[in-house]
Amino acid sequence: MTMPIGYITNPLVRHSSERDPSLLDRFAKDPQTAMVLVAGDLPILLAGEPGTGLLPASTLGRLSAHKEQVFLGTMGGRPVVATLAAPEAAELFQDDPSFAVADLRSIAVRGLVPAEELGLLAMAKSMLDWHNRHRFCANCGAPTQAAQAGFRRDCAACGAQHFPRTDPVVIMLVSRGDKCLLGRQARFPEKMYSCLAGFLEPGETIEAAVRRETFEEAGIRVGEVRYLASQPWPFPSSIMIGCVGEALTDEIDIDKDELEDARWFTKDDIRRMLDGTHEDFAAPSPIAIANHLIREWVKA
Ligand SMILES: [Zn+2]
Repeated sequence: MTMPIGYITNPLVRHSSERDPSLLDRFAKDPQTAMVLVAGDLPILLAGEPGTGLLPASTLGRLSAHKEQVFLGTMGGRPVVATLAAPEAAELFQDDPSFAVADLRSIAVRGLVPAEELGLLAMAKSMLDWHNRHRFCANCGAPTQAAQAGFRRDCAACGAQHFPRTDPVVIMLVSRGDKCLLGRQARFPEKMYSCLAGFLEPGETIEAAVRRETFEEAGIRVGEVRYLASQPWPFPSSIMIGCVGEALTDEIDIDKDELEDARWFTKDDIRRMLDGTHEDFAAPSPIAIANHLIREWVKA
């Protein structure tokens, strides 16, 4: 069975047009609300097989204080509120067997919650991280306050409104005939090679970013580019835009600041990397969109 791409399924109804302060005030106090609690950047889970990131609202009673809250939306009619707590709050749950505390990457890799919950945990983590890093106005430097049920921060001093950010990243599988281009960064796990990737810059199309990043990192010119799929990547708030590209040249010239190595792989290599039987090389984790871009190419 192929593991689904992590963080792509989010069953929440967002109620974007109805967000106002009264909504958050009402639902944050409602005992029926499902609470997503993040301590620093660690989600607190109810333990189980699998567990869940949707806690009873009463869980907040364990905390002496909490920071921002966001009304995420409703799930099956039940309101879902995300709450940020200080990193130290994780210690209140770490030794209690009814709870599990793990980083969001491990939660996805180890399947600690149902796959459907990963999208809403990603949303909660990115939103709360944004509040935590945007306490002051980027325009005038004054403190900002959360507004619109947690989906905006307002500056009373200069009137600026600030909205949650999502940073687009292009990630691409570039191929030429029956071989494809993968690279590795020094920080990757041993033997792992993955798709090249990079941030989209202002004023740039997705296709141009794919071509620029591939040329900068590996010296390969890319012609046709097609979009395949995307993945929220909550570290802290990216969207991975998965593309395939056709290489026009063969000779690799690596940017050593970005990559430790890049090389062409045959379909036989890739099959063995995906099933974990390759002696020298390994594929990226099945939770990552890179794994699926590679898998789609080898199937074609
Ligand atoms: Zn301001």
